[in-house]
Formats: sequence, C-alpha cells, structure tokens
Amino acid sequence: MKAFRRYAREERAARLVDLPVPTPGENEVLLRVAHCGICGSDLHAWLNHKGYESVLPEVTFGHEFSATVVDTGSSVSNWEANEQAVMIALQTHHDDNDPYCAMGLPQLSSRRRVQGLHLDGGMAEYVCVEEEFLLPIPKGLDLELAALTEPLSVAEHCIGNRTSIGPDALVIVSGPGIIGLLCAISARSRGAEVIISGTERDETTRLTAAHTLGFEPLVVGPGHPPLHQQITAYFPDGADALVEASGSAPALADAWQSVRSNGTVTAVALYSRTIDFDLTQFLRKQIDLRTSYASSKDDYLRAFKLLQDGAVDASVLTQSYSLADAEQGFIDSENLHATKVLLACS
Ligand SMILES: [Zn+2]
Repeated sequence: MKAFRRYAREERAARLVDLPVPTPGENEVLLRVAHCGICGSDLHAWLNHKGYESVLPEVTFGHEFSATVVDTGSSVSNWEANEQAVMIALQTHHDDNDPYCAMGLPQLSSRRRVQGLHLDGGMAEYVCVEEEFLLPIPKGLDLELAALTEPLSVAEHCIGNRTSIGPDALVIVSGPGIIGLLCAISARSRGAEVIISGTERDETTRLTAAHTLGFEPLVVGPGHPPLHQQITAYFPDGADALVEASGSAPALADAWQSVRSNGTVTAVALYSRTIDFDLTQFLRKQIDLRTSYASSKDDYLRAFKLLQDGAVDASVLTQSYSLADAEQGFIDSENLHATKVLLACS
C-alpha cells in the first residue's frame, strides 16, 4: 500500500512509500482510509518545529480521517467489515483510576498519545486502530465531510466547553485557519453573531472562505486600523467573547481591547514563542482568560451532529488532493493556499 511517511527527524523529511498492508492486532481494526486531512500539527511535525520533538523519526502522518472497516482482530466485538468510522486522534487508554478519564478529559492525561505522530496514522491506503479509539460515522454522512470530525470536535470543545457563548453573543474569532472557521461555525450554531479577523496573507483564501460562509471578515496588521477600532462599527461595546485561533502573540496580548468587561478570551492556538502581555489590562476588565486543548468523545459526537445538520460546507472549507500529491498538499497548506487539504487515500 502507499503511505505518506516521515523518514527522519528533519525538516520536510517525508515521502510517499510502499508498505505492506498492516495486520490488525487482537484489539485492532484494519480500515481502508477514505479521506485524511492535513492538520496544523502535521505541518509542524513535517517542518520539524520546536515543540514536536516527541514525534517519531519514522511514522506515517495523519489523524483526521474517515475510513471503512476491512478486517478486525480476534478480540474486537463491536466492529464489522464495511462499517464506517473516524478515529479519536488524542488517545488515552481508559483507566478508572486516571482523574482525567473520570472528568471526561482524557486528552489531558499524561498517558495520551497522538496516532499519526506517535504511531502510524491515516495518510495511507490502510491503517490499524485500536477499537477503543474508533467512533461510528452516522448513517448517511458523507465520508469527505466526516473527515472534518476531528478538527470540528476541537472547535466544539473550545466553543461548547471553554467559551461562554449564549444566544445573541457577539463573538470575534481571531485567525481564519480551519480551527478558527470551525469555531465560528460552532459559535453561530449556538446563536452568536461572529466576526473573523485575519491578516493580508489570509485574504486570498481563508478570509474569502470566511466571507463565503457568511462571516464578516476584517483585515488587521500593518497598514490597517487595530482590531478594537474596527470592531466598534459592529460591536460598539466590544465583543462578549474573543477566540484566539491564529497563534499570533500580539493578537492574544491585545485581545482585552476588543472584549467588553466581564467577557471571555479563549486561546485555542499554539504559540511558537513566549507571550509578553499586560495582565493588568485583562484584570481591570475582569476578562476571563482561558485555554482550550484538543477534544474528547462528547465533542466528536456533537461534531457529528453539526455535520449532519449541514452546518459545515465542505466545498468552501476543503481542497482535495490525491495521496500521491500529499507533499504538494503540505506545501500548499504551509503557504496558506489551502484552508483544509483532504487527501483522497483510496
Ligand atoms: Zn488535527
């Protein structure tokens, strides 16, 4: 089978290779991958960025995929051939003694791993996944759309569990990457009015996608008024919540200026450097500053529901590439020429 695989702990050291189809272990399911997304974390790992040292030097990337069951290991009882599944990307084996399992936040356990970074993932024709980490795709849900379940679950955790968004809430999403756009969709599904900000680099593809999806896009950065000035035309008293999805340190440091007193700022991006910011400004407005990391099973189930309800328009958000063109997909993601690359794997 073909697989897009990292071969060394170096920048851009990944290529399409031929591998034997894996044999499922006793608790594992062998799946034929339909579509697999390129995630920001895949991109960081491919570029060998700081903070991704734990990624194996040799590994098949890919944790955002939809797939069909081909075969099952001897102890697997819940899956049969031809059933369709997505994988929980951040995997923690259930343990009643683990406080994070008990809290329903297994993604925070120190035992967690990411399939596709710490063991072979789904940028391949076939992949084996432990039964515990598979969820059935609801009947009738398109496999291309289902490949967005994982990033949408991250947005659902951020908006549903880590940001206070009621009906009529005024929300700014900073950063029109796929997580930002999905956070905007998630907030709108809860009745919020949402504005999305990005830089000039985002204008051609990502802010255009935001506009097509019906969100007001604002351009910030050199030569443009600051965000807090621009938003007064829409939200005169400031936003109720700002979701920082760009990973830009100044965007987070300045967030207090765009949010009303007693509002919320939630960071869902990863920042490549330490952020220097004036906490007193947040404090004087009593802004609740939070973070949101990954997602758990309940968030995936809510993501399925949003996908079934038609809240997510894949034709605007995704660009399809063949598995053979995976490297080009990474390059186009790096250059912001794509919003979400989906590799057609079989
Ligand atoms: Zn992801």
